[in-house]
Amino acid sequence: MKDKKDSKDKVNEETCPKCGSALGEITVTKSGKRFQRCSTGNWNQETHQVDGCSYIKWLPVEPETLDEKCPKCGAPLLLTTTRFGKRMKKCSTNSWDPKTRTASGCDYVEWIKGTTEELKEDCPKCGEKLVLYTSASGKKLKKCSTSKWNQEEKRASGCDYKEWL
Ligand SMILES: [Zn+2]
Ligand SMILES: [Zn+2]
Ligand SMILES: [Zn+2]
Repeated sequence: MKDKKDSKDKVNEETCPKCGSALGEITVTKSGKRFQRCSTGNWNQETHQVDGCSYIKWLPVEPETLDEKCPKCGAPLLLTTTRFGKRMKKCSTNSWDPKTRTASGCDYVEWIKGTTEELKEDCPKCGEKLVLYTSASGKKLKKCSTSKWNQEEKRASGCDYKEWL
């Protein structure tokens, strides 16, 4: 009597290429990246090392379809995250052909800029309020709220106080 397992059920259950054990659950990092650790591996908080198998599989960040239209062609935009944690909006008709190394479709992209939030701190230089700026890649910077970037003249105006956190 053979205990035949249906291999179709196993398609999504990936195994670790290092030790052959099943991969664990998907973990999401603070910056939104996702990975699966080998189920025999465990992060040890005390030793700051992995106990067991150290295999980690990073998952591609799936693009999210936005409720926004491409200003160039009117197709829906996608929100994608690069390997380096930068985020950009791109046109859903755009695709990359690895064989010919060319992109086809609409080439519209828009990098997501950071966010700014107001702080209850005063600028040591001019006494105005400080703002906390978080860049698209997650870096944090305190800067003066009077500081502005002039797109047309391509230069900053206002107080230049900055402090990287
Ligand atoms: Zn493993
Ligand atoms: Zn487009
Ligand atoms: Zn200032």
